[in-house]
Amino acid sequence: MLNGWALIYLIEQLINIFSKKRHSKNLMETIAYFDASHDMPEEVIAAAGFVPYKILGNVHVSNDPADRYLPAFFCPAARSMLTEALAKTGQWAGIVIAQGCNATNRHHDVWKRHVRTPFLHWFNTPLKDDVPAVRFMKTELWRLVDALYRQFGILVNEAMLADACRESNTIKKKLQVFSGLRMEKDITNREYLEVLVKSMTLPKPEAIKEIDAAIATMKNRGPFPADKIKVLLTGSDVTYPELMEQIDEAGFRVVRDDLSIGERYFATLIPEEENPFEALARYYLSIPKPATKLGLSKRAQYLETALEQSGIRAVISQCLKFCEPYAYDAVLVNNALKEKGCRVLHVEREYTPTPDNQMATRLAAFAEME
Ligand code: SF4
Repeated sequence: MLNGWALIYLIEQLINIFSKKRHSKNLMETIAYFDASHDMPEEVIAAAGFVPYKILGNVHVSNDPADRYLPAFFCPAARSMLTEALAKTGQWAGIVIAQGCNATNRHHDVWKRHVRTPFLHWFNTPLKDDVPAVRFMKTELWRLVDALYRQFGILVNEAMLADACRESNTIKKKLQVFSGLRMEKDITNREYLEVLVKSMTLPKPEAIKEIDAAIATMKNRGPFPADKIKVLLTGSDVTYPELMEQIDEAGFRVVRDDLSIGERYFATLIPEEENPFEALARYYLSIPKPATKLGLSKRAQYLETALEQSGIRAVISQCLKFCEPYAYDAVLVNNALKEKGCRVLHVEREYTPTPDNQMATRLAAFAEME
C-alpha cells in the first residue's frame, strides 16, 4: 500500500514524465541567448534539439520598454537586447545569458525579474584561459546540460554534442571561405554582416544554405573596387547594417575584423578528435579575445597577425557610447597597433541607424589621409 507522501511523489513523477514527453515533441523550438561576445556555447543548445538564436536587439525599435528597468546611461545595445527579449520571449522556449561585460552581467538579475520565460539560465564563463579556466568552463557546460535536462527532459550526451560541434565547424569553415573573399571581391560591408547575422539567428541547416548561396554569388562578383580602402574593423560589436553602410560610403571596405558578429565567431574551429565537452571548453577559450576578457596582449596579437596576413595598415576602431569594456581597452590596443606602423582611427559612436555626423566627418578625414 502506498502512503500519502509516496502517492504524491508518484503523481509528481508521472507529471514530470508527461511534461518532458510533451516537450520533446516540439524540438524545433528556439532558445535565445544573450551574449556580449562569443562566449555562449550554442552547440549545447543545438545538441538538445533547439535552435540557438543570438539576441541582437533592433536599432529601429525604441528602447522605451527596456528603459523602464535600466537607466539611460546603460549601453544602448544591451538595452535594445532587453527590449527584444521583452517583445519576443513568448516565442522562445527559454533564454540563456552568458557572462559577458559588466553591463550584461547585471542583466541576468533584471531579466530574471522582468522577462517572463519558463527557462532562464546563467552561463558563467572564465576570464582567463589557463588550465583551471578549462575546468571551470567544462563545469559550466555540464551545468547547462543539467539545466536543460531538468527543464525539458532532454539529456545531451557526448554523441549529440559531437554532432552539434561538427555542424558548428561546418558553418565556421564556410564563413572562413566567405570572409576570405572580402579581400578579392566586391562584397559590401553590409553583405558581410548580414551573412554573419543569419549564421547566428537561423536554424543551422538554413544558415548553411544561406552561406553556400552567398559564397556562390560572391565568387562571381567583380574584383575589389579600386576606389575603396581596405580596412580592419575593431571595437564594440556592430549589430546593425546601417553602420557598416556608413563605413562603406566613406570609402572603406572591412576586409578583416575581430568582432563577435564577425571573425571571432569563426576564426578557430572546435577540435573534433577530443571528448566534445573538453573540446568545446578549449574552443571557447581559444577564440580571438574580446575586450571583456583578460589578455590585452592576446587581443592585440590577433589584430597584428590579421594586419600582417592581409597586408593592410588602416584600422577603424569604433566604440559604442557607454561600451566601457572597449573604451578601457581601446587606448592600449590602438597604441600597440600604432607602434607597429598602422594608421588607426578611433571614434565613439551613437546607437542609431541614421548616419552619425561626427563619425562621417572623422571617416572622411581618415580616408583623405590614405
Ligand atoms: S556594446 Fe559593450 S557594453 Fe554593450 S553589451 Fe556589448 S560589450 Fe557590453
